[in-house]
Amino acid sequence: MANMIEVEKLSKAFGDAPAVKSVSFTVQKSELLAIVGPSGCGKSTLLRCLNGLEEFDAGRLCLDGVVLDRATESYATFHHTAHLLRQKVGMVFQSFNLFPHLTALQNAMLAPMVVKKSPKGHARESAEKYLTKVGLADRMHYYPSQLSGGQQQRAAIARALTMSPAVMLYDEPTSALDPTLVREVLQIMRQLHEEGMTQLVVTHEMRFAADAADRVMMLDAGEVAACHGAREFFQHTEDPRITSFLGHFAGTLA
Ligand code: ADP
Ligand code: MG
Repeated sequence: MANMIEVEKLSKAFGDAPAVKSVSFTVQKSELLAIVGPSGCGKSTLLRCLNGLEEFDAGRLCLDGVVLDRATESYATFHHTAHLLRQKVGMVFQSFNLFPHLTALQNAMLAPMVVKKSPKGHARESAEKYLTKVGLADRMHYYPSQLSGGQQQRAAIARALTMSPAVMLYDEPTSALDPTLVREVLQIMRQLHEEGMTQLVVTHEMRFAADAADRVMMLDAGEVAACHGAREFFQHTEDPRITSFLGHFAGTLA
């Protein structure tokens, strides 16, 4: 199986405070990797590095053939390559980040038109296709304020998919949702998994990580504390870092 993502000794500090410390891992094509860990352990920073949004200090990453290597890249070429990287990656945030003055359809048409210079008719066709895929065929002309949180997040996923990304990255995609709406968003990620999309999901939904992910990677203080097959991860009761972390979720996993 080919690696879609390779991360080697990637480090990022804010001033003197390290946020990501020499992190290495690989993700195969079509894999769903859940990333878990306590607040402040570097999950968001790592995703932002993978998306070329954060300029890391050291290390190398390769994503669908685009290589960003701190050792060889000058400042100028780093930014150029980071731009290429962003076009390979669909990013979904906790806070949806839809434009409030645009309908779901207009939100989903915008990036292909602006970034890829897609003709309007083509962008519209693609936006309609992905909004239908996430179950919003009858909500395309609604503004974000007229949609539930779950519908807004599904529109945000559709918007990311219109760019035909090689990889989807999600940063706590269900953390802002009412519990009743969480499932409909998780369901989209399960569906994309079945279709072979490569996905990295930062989540506190341990049941989802256990059931839907292929592997679970735990970060702790900026380092990879553990990385196992999903079933194995939740059975690694001899690893104190895992048991201590999972202790916080005892209720939800019972
Ligand atoms: P997580 O997503 O796991 O909660 P983050 O990646 O957001 O963790 O943060 C990791 C560490 O980096 C934290 O100590 C946080 O305070 C710090 N940090 C994150 N972003 C910034 C920033 N823009 N400036 C300074 N410190 C930051
Ligand atoms: Mg975070």
